Amino acid sequence: MKMYSEPQDLGKYLDRELVCACGHTHHVPIRAVEIGPGALETLPEHIRRLGYRKPFLLCDPITRRVAGERCERLLRETGIDCVCHTLEHLGFDEATLGEIVIRLPRDADLMIGVGTGSITDMTRFSSFRLGLPCFTVATGAPMDGFAASIGILNVNGLKLTLPAHCTEVIIGDTDILRTAPYRMTVAGFGDLIGKLNCLNDWELGRIVNDEHYCPQIAALVRGCVEDILRKAPRIRERDPEVLGDVMRGLVLSGAAISLYGNSRPASGAEHHMSHYWEVVNEQRGTEGAMHGEQVAVGTVLMLTLAEELLREGTPDFETARAFARAYDEAVWEKEIRRAYGGAAGEILALERSARKNAVPERLRRIDSMEAHWAEIRARLETLPSAASLTELLREIGCPCTPQEIGIDAPVLRDTFLYCKEVRARYTLLQLVYDLGLLEKLAGRVIARSVT
Ligand SMILES: [Zn+2]
Ligand SMILES: [Zn+2]
Repeated sequence: MKMYSEPQDLGKYLDRELVCACGHTHHVPIRAVEIGPGALETLPEHIRRLGYRKPFLLCDPITRRVAGERCERLLRETGIDCVCHTLEHLGFDEATLGEIVIRLPRDADLMIGVGTGSITDMTRFSSFRLGLPCFTVATGAPMDGFAASIGILNVNGLKLTLPAHCTEVIIGDTDILRTAPYRMTVAGFGDLIGKLNCLNDWELGRIVNDEHYCPQIAALVRGCVEDILRKAPRIRERDPEVLGDVMRGLVLSGAAISLYGNSRPASGAEHHMSHYWEVVNEQRGTEGAMHGEQVAVGTVLMLTLAEELLREGTPDFETARAFARAYDEAVWEKEIRRAYGGAAGEILALERSARKNAVPERLRRIDSMEAHWAEIRARLETLPSAASLTELLREIGCPCTPQEIGIDAPVLRDTFLYCKEVRARYTLLQLVYDLGLLEKLAGRVIARSVT
């Protein structure tokens, strides 16, 4: 089948091969997504339709009360034999995995994760390793991981991202989502608005590096963010329709990752900031803000940086070339060791293979920026203003400044200068760095953000 030229409903992208004009064939192996009031009622129907007979449901004590008990009752009432297990080991580590294996009935042919984040990650990972399919029943929508094909768990005390598979069916019953803590919904919204920046980063990669870009997938993600931005003020009222839209947007942006084959359509510098803050929080032993809250703050910071860059006017490319040639890798490495502490080894290894800061590559990118500056400027001018996004976030009660999520000025400076090193992915931060303006403009953004 041909990839749609205009964005369509989420259902039209599921479980089919889409041959795209971008040169890729897109595929997401999710069979069905049910979002709306009473969506849980469709669970038995999906189990039967896909030919499963004995589901094993996984909950924690809270999600059992919120949705697990209802799932179990519903399945029993419709004649489906099931076992619902409430996890006792909630570290989402080796012990949790062991508990799942011990409790799994030998004749179970499907696993259903009832919850958000950790439980659904664990269900995807354990079912993948046990050779069983899995479903997700969401009890909240704080981030876009529902459609992911990875599992995150703690191994030997370290958080690892491991290969897993996609869930076959995702159910987001808005009657249940309404009961989730409001902060969770706001975080989900924050993760979604991050797409404003990451789509911009992807376009910059296309313009400067001739990076592969899929306009259809970008339009799909952009369309859903724009839709949710219009409806955002109704989040505060817990309007079930808008909660459903947030969940749908999060599933869709996760599906875009699967469709594209990597996280380019859903993760840019705003996510690199969040990853860096996680590193810092872990080393300090402090509890960080929720992922989506961090992404919201990162997005405001990146929009502010784009504004400061535009204020600079046309950059001086000769100064940029001189700055690139003066690069001292030893100095940079010392700074990375300081900024990343125990996590520096991984960052240095990544740069050894990616070489994104190496002089010849930078000179090439500077040439490309000079040739395409009008296009880059036009792209940056399409971004919404940091002030308008801040106002919207305040209205719904989402953190929008670094202080509100526990990030002080020194960490913020390191974030601007070094968070781009967590991935080998081109973003506005690399662009500003290549121009030799990162330190200067970051200083201006920090002065605007930390008052
Ligand atoms: Zn995210
Ligand atoms: Zn495509």
